[in-house]
Amino acid sequence: MRTISGEAVTQAVKQLFLSACRMPERGALAAIESALEKETSAPAKEALRQLVENARIARQTGMPYCQDTGMAVVFVELGQDVRIEGNLSEAIQEGVRQAYEEGYFRKSVRDPLTGQNTGDNTPAVIHYDVVPGDKLRITAAPKGFGSENMSRIAMLKPSDGLGGIRRFILDSVRIADGSPCPPVVLGVGIGGTFELCALLAKKQLLRPIGSVNADETLARMERELQGDINALGIGAMGLGGPNYCLAVHIAKYPTHIAGLPVAVNFQCHAARHGSVTL
Ligand code: SF4
Repeated sequence: MRTISGEAVTQAVKQLFLSACRMPERGALAAIESALEKETSAPAKEALRQLVENARIARQTGMPYCQDTGMAVVFVELGQDVRIEGNLSEAIQEGVRQAYEEGYFRKSVRDPLTGQNTGDNTPAVIHYDVVPGDKLRITAAPKGFGSENMSRIAMLKPSDGLGGIRRFILDSVRIADGSPCPPVVLGVGIGGTFELCALLAKKQLLRPIGSVNADETLARMERELQGDINALGIGAMGLGGPNYCLAVHIAKYPTHIAGLPVAVNFQCHAARHGSVTL
């Protein structure tokens, strides 16, 4: 049994958020640069150029890439042979608290009914998986709500099949239009239960852009859906053109014979996340 101190967890979480809030992941930026080269719509080309320039300024100054530094989402893979000294959840929350304070990041978290801001961007949303081994892997994903707000879930009928899934995803994009700060990445979950389906969709946002799904059927669906979405012509920042969607990432899970849950989680161009293994 390996022991990891709560303080080590706090410092790791703090560094992850300090870094992630300042810069989108390399793959997202490369995809935006590639979209800029191919863009045909003049307004969208200017928007993409500004995004690349914004990233350059963020890199040079250490300022956040976007003023919305998000709600802190944390994924934890806890090895079953690891013992944490202290309270793991509290150590993570403390890391989030320190990162948003030291980074002067916007504190966006509030009571959903009273509107009272919690003052330090906690609580984070933490997802735990217990895995084999003696390591602790932590992924930090600050999530902006311009894109989160456009996310949708549907409990389709089994008879809706692939056509129903495709219709739901395209309808979700039409409704979202330019609101989720495109170019976007779409995380899609298919199957499981209501809550697992949404979590599958969110976890797909962590997949590297450009990675190919190991499941051939899903890989084909991803390619076809990305083409269909971009053919809608909504474009970068909703300004027209073929560069609305940088990637569609789909995961599936067995589900009940009576249902067909589908969830779509939008990720804006500020695709920020980072991981560390302790
Ligand atoms: S949706 Fe993304 S890009 Fe838009 S304001 Fe929020 S974090 Fe920034």
